[in-house]
Amino acid sequence: MRVLVLAGTSEARALIGEISGKHDIVASLAGVTREPIDLGCETRVGGFGGVDGLAEYLRAERIDAVVDGTHPFAAQMTWNGAEACKRVGVRHVILQRRGWKPKDGDDWRFVAQFEEVADIIPQSATVFLGTGRQTLDQFSGLTGRRLLCRVIDPPQRDFPFEGGKFVVGRPPFSVEEEVSFFKREKIDWLVVKNAGGERSSSKLDAARLLGLPVVMQKRPKRPGGVVVWSVKDCVAWLDA
Ligand code: NAP
Repeated sequence: MRVLVLAGTSEARALIGEISGKHDIVASLAGVTREPIDLGCETRVGGFGGVDGLAEYLRAERIDAVVDGTHPFAAQMTWNGAEACKRVGVRHVILQRRGWKPKDGDDWRFVAQFEEVADIIPQSATVFLGTGRQTLDQFSGLTGRRLLCRVIDPPQRDFPFEGGKFVVGRPPFSVEEEVSFFKREKIDWLVVKNAGGERSSSKLDAARLLGLPVVMQKRPKRPGGVVVWSVKDCVAWLDA
């Protein structure tokens, strides 16, 4: 079976490792990371050109099934994938990781949009934005706070807000690393997307240990259809 894996997450990478040899795989990356990890299979990079472009690609490449292994916050791609598959009649599944839930001792405030953060985080706080550089401009309302934004690639622009800075690092980070980073930078608040998974939950463990409050962005709505919550279940869906 020819399978298109919409990638960009560790789950997509793990799935490709599991099914290579069994299926003919083509992985797709958005092209946002300058030096992505080699997925070990045929890989295309860059957008398809919306639903129309993806539908055309599915036809031209004779794709039998699409696994949407994108990040839970890559909502545009996920909606496009569902719509294009419906249009062309290709099997479609969303491989998603479970969201995080607060544990005893956590102080989490939930928001739908980052614009709401300015009403929650007090002036003069030092804020760790674990939300990536793509969303940085959405924090323009946080004037007065010192913002630190962690990015994978060295930034090619100056930090857009006064007094703030980029911090370069490629996950995963251990809890110890996060604790010492938060202490060193005197972080008071975290802003996090509910990405879920174990790979990046260490910042939440560190926040709990240090008693730091967290603003948690809720996940965007996803389309209906089949969703699997583990690589194992995704392999079984492909085999079925
Ligand atoms: P998005 O807003 O849902 O997608 C914007 C556009 O980027 C899509 O319409 C599509 O362009 C293109 N695109 C996205 N993922 C693609 C893929 N895997 N292959 C080909 N084109 C893709 O996505 P995003 O939030 O910018 O995320 C981009 C990528 O980074 C995703 O693959 C995602 O898995 C990964 N990622 C995202 C986050 C996050 O927090 N959003 C975190 C970690 C990793 P066309 O319409 O032209 O097809």
